[in-house]
Amino acid sequence: MLAACMVLFVTGQTDSLYHHWEQTTPQIIGAIREHTPCEARVLEEARAVTPEALAGYQAIFINYNGPRLGPAQEKAIEEFVRRGGGLVSFHQGLYGEWFGQRFNAQRRWEETGSRGWAAWEEMIGARWNPELLGHTLRGVFEVKCQSHPACAEASFTANDELYHRFDLKPGTKVVATAFSDTKVQGTGKVEPIAWTNSYGQGRVFFTTLGHDATALYQPGVRRLFARATEWAATGSASAPRAAAKPVRVLAVTGGHGYPEAFYSLLNGMPGIEWKHAPSHEDAFRRPINDRFDVLLLHDMYERVTPAAQHALERWVEAGKGVISLHHAIVDYTEWPFWWQEVIGGKYFVEAKDGYKKSSYKEGVEFVVRAVKGKQGHPVLEGVPPLAVEDEMYKDMWHSPRIEVLMETDNPLNDRPVVYIGPHAKARAIHIQLGHSAHTMENPGYRLLIRNAIEWAARRR
Ligand SMILES: [Zn+2]
Repeated sequence: MLAACMVLFVTGQTDSLYHHWEQTTPQIIGAIREHTPCEARVLEEARAVTPEALAGYQAIFINYNGPRLGPAQEKAIEEFVRRGGGLVSFHQGLYGEWFGQRFNAQRRWEETGSRGWAAWEEMIGARWNPELLGHTLRGVFEVKCQSHPACAEASFTANDELYHRFDLKPGTKVVATAFSDTKVQGTGKVEPIAWTNSYGQGRVFFTTLGHDATALYQPGVRRLFARATEWAATGSASAPRAAAKPVRVLAVTGGHGYPEAFYSLLNGMPGIEWKHAPSHEDAFRRPINDRFDVLLLHDMYERVTPAAQHALERWVEAGKGVISLHHAIVDYTEWPFWWQEVIGGKYFVEAKDGYKKSSYKEGVEFVVRAVKGKQGHPVLEGVPPLAVEDEMYKDMWHSPRIEVLMETDNPLNDRPVVYIGPHAKARAIHIQLGHSAHTMENPGYRLLIRNAIEWAARRR
């Protein structure tokens, strides 16, 4: 059975001359989400830490450097750890007011004569003489791991400041080190980078890494922060997950213009890799079934070449994913199988065979919402109502067999806007929105596209 892993992430203040909790918090939370089963809640008011606020958590993660919290709050944290709760902190947690130090007019930390919050020092197992505060120039260096569940690999790359000349207390156990090079104002010695300590029944983990969002972007650093959190909470860390294979997307354009924001939609989308075919000829020159998982059609061809038709038949027959985006609803007038059996909708540029001519209107503001009862569909997870300025389409043909996920009640547009096509094997979805850069940059729309890609690839 998996041990529960609920983490309270305490933050809201750092010494903002150097460190920005607003920027580092999302990086750390993201790493915890990526690499552990732990669930983190963020508390931006550190003074709100009370025994009640800590109930139900297995670990506290502290991203803070500021005034002391007050006796009740400090006692709540001490008791939490003493009774077996985990504690993780890093970088700027190694100096400051919690150690009884103050920042003077010369912008240097100095002792005040007070020990500060003595239990903080005891818990993290370290203290830094303010006169010795210092680090290498910020740069890239290798971190070596001892055997510990928080350190999943033998070594990893950091892009950070390498802290030096602090004192570790007896009882701490160093789990990662790095060589501090004199060429970058280091000590010429191997310095501790991460260590564990115990305080009462509680497990404590501290690392000097994590200066900023860039430092926390390094994959090995993300794994360290995440696994340290899980270890502090549960006493072990999950087996490193095999990186999920990316969803391979072939994006086909051609036959119609599109905003360059289309590329930004796919670039950087987590978990996918994509290739661009600027025409049908490019897309279907070689067989695609083994090379891709999802076809993202953002093309507009009324005709379909025999090669494309053959490739698309094999594609849907193999149960692959199709996303038809915006003007791709015009596709392949002469091949009814495609729009009747796969997509389930069709925009007619001219009236034909008894079908009405469809019409469009650009640059209209309208609202598209989940259809009642479809809010729980995996394609719509987290997707808010979309208020867009995009192109409206009217008088299209729709199959009675589509499953409509999102719709609009604006009379200038047909009602279905996002829908699943009727094909029994393929996962095909049409998303009408996608004319303007404004839409492509809308975070809710981007989430919709990402969900749709994952769903079409059967990852949802
Ligand atoms: Zn720093």
